[in-house]
Amino acid sequence: MICSGVDIICKNRYFSGMTEVKKECTKKECPQCGASVPVYAEYVVWCAQCGWNLNPRQQTQKRHTLLETFYASLGQKQSKTLFEEYKNAAIIKPKLSFSRITAFILSSGVHGITLGLFGLGIFLIGLWVNFLIIAIIMNLI
Ligand SMILES: [Zn+2]
Repeated sequence: MICSGVDIICKNRYFSGMTEVKKECTKKECPQCGASVPVYAEYVVWCAQCGWNLNPRQQTQKRHTLLETFYASLGQKQSKTLFEEYKNAAIIKPKLSFSRITAFILSSGVHGITLGLFGLGIFLIGLWVNFLIIAIIMNLI
């Protein structure tokens, strides 16, 4: 990567045609391998040689409560289990499970209520139109 004081690192073609954005660049030494790393003020600094600071959140996030620690360990276990389950699967097809059936029943209820309200609206509009027709006929007679 070139770092010569001012580098062109972004070309913006979404606003007013193609414009080039120039960013100030400085250099920093990588704390792990000592390689020269370009530093742009608005971006995360990372090393292309050794991968230092590729995921800065991982280093800065600290778990404070017991619940956060529990959720994190549970998430890692579930992710690993899911990865192992699908890693060796030849064909991945959706399976019928309890959660899938429950979701289907709940969504059917929600959509049923929506369709019921739509039907009630049509019925009320029809009733109102009939009332208007009757009122017009009564006035004409
Ligand atoms: Zn490095």
